[in-house]
Amino acid sequence: LASRAFHPEDSVIMVGDLAIGGETVHVMAGPCAVESREQLLEAARQVKAAGATILRGGAYKPRTSPYSFQGLEEKGLQLLAEAREVTGLKVVTEVMDARTLPLVAEYADILQIGARNMQNFFLLREVGRLDKPVLLKRGLSCTIEEWLMAAEYIMSMGNQRVILCERGIRTFETYTRNTLDLSAVPVVKHFSHLPVVVDPSHGTGKWQFVPTMARAAVAAGADGLLIEVHPNPAEALCDGPQSLTPENFARMMKELRRVARAV
Ligand code: PEP
Ligand code: MN
Repeated sequence: LASRAFHPEDSVIMVGDLAIGGETVHVMAGPCAVESREQLLEAARQVKAAGATILRGGAYKPRTSPYSFQGLEEKGLQLLAEAREVTGLKVVTEVMDARTLPLVAEYADILQIGARNMQNFFLLREVGRLDKPVLLKRGLSCTIEEWLMAAEYIMSMGNQRVILCERGIRTFETYTRNTLDLSAVPVVKHFSHLPVVVDPSHGTGKWQFVPTMARAAVAAGADGLLIEVHPNPAEALCDGPQSLTPENFARMMKELRRVARAV
């Protein structure tokens, strides 16, 4: 179902009135984690002003350490809904398990499957039963074939609205958090009709490299970007070092418009 042999035309996935995979590059931006009402509303206003169309923010966080901030859970979802109300942005947020899926699906416009869950086949099947777009991140050490098969799990249950997200893979390199595999964009587009979004924030792990790799992603043919933005990255509870300030995000958006048609 994910294969271009089966479906030769590029898929355009509608998220309300937004077309992902169409002419326009859509930018999903916001903090790694929803931390507070002030933090989220401020981030939402700023990314909207700079041209983002979708707000990101985790309410359930898959942290390496169980002692790190785990997210505001339902309260975080409510804040995302409030930010959507205020700004008109759509909301993408991660769902970590089948237990919380009904709740997360009530609030999200796009369900994010995180890298760590890319091969949680049970969860993939569960989101496959819903009529809701899914942002499927590439697993930390997964091949493109494994990633496409994960999309196939979702689609085989009936949900065809899958957006792929390249977020970097583990390599021997240590100067970046992951190695952003931009070759995945043309390769996926060769084998599949699904739209591809690139996440240079997790891909590099360092905010200094995010704008350059965002432009490179769009030049490579990405249909969208996922960018972490925090009103005060130094104080972020999660992923501060890779988060852009609102000012740097606005500059990145301006530079992006030189490469592509971004909103
Ligand atoms: C995130 O988007 O904040 C996240 C946890 O990403 P990934 O699953 O790609 O690590
Ligand atoms: Mn993050």
